[in-house]
Amino acid sequence: MIPDRLMIGGHEFQVEFVEVVNKHVSRRAEIDHLAGKIRIDASMMASRQEESLLHEVLHELDQQCHVGLSEEDLWRLAEGLYAVLKVNGIQFGPKG
Ligand SMILES: [Zn+2]
Repeated sequence: MIPDRLMIGGHEFQVEFVEVVNKHVSRRAEIDHLAGKIRIDASMMASRQEESLLHEVLHELDQQCHVGLSEEDLWRLAEGLYAVLKVNGIQFGPKG
């Protein structure tokens, strides 16, 4: 389950599920670093949405921390991190 808001560093981001993430480029998800919004394709299965959220979180961290990862690196890290979370039963979502 994906929260509708999350903190990345000291910045709060609103998570939105949309039918079209970007009118010009085909994307699963995208982040607006300045407006504090993450848009995720609503038609994807839940696991792809969660992995895509991690990818966008990594984009924000990459920018905040001036790491300079490539798009491919970010997808690899998101896939790997998502697998670690899933296998260990760590889930997204508000605190219960
Ligand atoms: Zn990306």
